[in-house]
Amino acid sequence: MADQVDVAIIGGGPAGLTAATYLRRFLRSCVVIDAGHSRARYIPESHNCPGFPQGVSGRELLARMRAQAETFEARIVEARVERIENSGEGFTVSAGERRWHARNVILATGVADRLPEVPWCEDAIARGALRLCAVCDAYEARDQRIGIHGPADGLIGHARFLRAYSPDVALLPTDHALAGADAATARELGVRVLPPGGTLDFDGERCHYRTPEGDETFDTIYPYLGHHSYADLLRGLGLPADEGELKVDLHQQTRIPGLYAIGDVVSGLNQISVAFGQAAIAATHAHNTLPHRPRGSVL
Ligand SMILES: Cc1cc2nc3c(=O)[nH]c(=O)nc-3n(C[C@H](O)[C@H](O)[C@H](O)COP(=O)(O)OP(=O)(O)OC[C@H]3O[C@@H](n4cnc5c(N)ncnc54)[C@H](O)[C@@H]3O)c2cc1C
Repeated sequence: MADQVDVAIIGGGPAGLTAATYLRRFLRSCVVIDAGHSRARYIPESHNCPGFPQGVSGRELLARMRAQAETFEARIVEARVERIENSGEGFTVSAGERRWHARNVILATGVADRLPEVPWCEDAIARGALRLCAVCDAYEARDQRIGIHGPADGLIGHARFLRAYSPDVALLPTDHALAGADAATARELGVRVLPPGGTLDFDGERCHYRTPEGDETFDTIYPYLGHHSYADLLRGLGLPADEGELKVDLHQQTRIPGLYAIGDVVSGLNQISVAFGQAAIAATHAHNTLPHRPRGSVL
């Protein structure tokens, strides 16, 4: 037997929890099914999240958002959705033995950063020695010694962005040395390029980049190793994600009517405030497409 809900929300990060608050306040039934690995849990302290002038940690923000959704009796279930089927009349969402039948589905599954394969990664993120999002926190790293780590071909764009924050920026390529136009641009930007293929280390406070030619210490390193998108959940519905990120219309709707996508799983800027806005848009459109339910008896 499947539980019936107006909307099933898959993912309980900032996007999914915001959508739940909106839908409950529209007096719609919804369930948030969440595997519990929000990217936001890594945020030591966010300073660009609207409404928190002193900053807020990702875990604190998630706890507040969950409490807000639960104030309006949103149901939040801990589970990983494995399948979504489209019956034409709606969707069946499955996680293990559990099933939900929903008129609309909001996919808010986010992405997972590919992190350096080192045991100290989470400690270094918590200390700000590794940072994963320059848009989020380059301001906090201004004038620091900044390393940018990742495949050589993608580093220059990040260097340009981060060079506006510090005179001491170095590229740490994982694969090969920079050549041609990229090497020339690095010189123009005044960005150093270190030998490729070094190893990262962490001394409890700062990160080090070690190559046979030496050891350099950085106040912070931004690894750009790509990410995994949980949009692959939609492959069974014939919606292949373009390079892992979904395209949506102005209402956050995918090409399948009634199936919405919000937050990091959507192509665009991966930010909490974007997730909030997209959640509000999707939840409002989903509400407006559901059958009208006049309240109380009509005389
Ligand atoms: C270190 C770091 C610092 C950051 N700092 C900032 C900042 O200062 N400001 C800012 O705006 N942004 C910041 N971000 C980005 C921010 O965390 C994301 O933009 C935000 O979390 C996206 O929200 P979301 O709800 O789309 O995805 P997420 O928060 O990742 O939540 C997705 C949820 O869906 C769940 N899920 C996935 N697949 C399934 C499934 N099949 N079934 C059930 N559940 C599933 C996941 O477990 C997760 O709980 C930072 C990110 C990192 C990593």
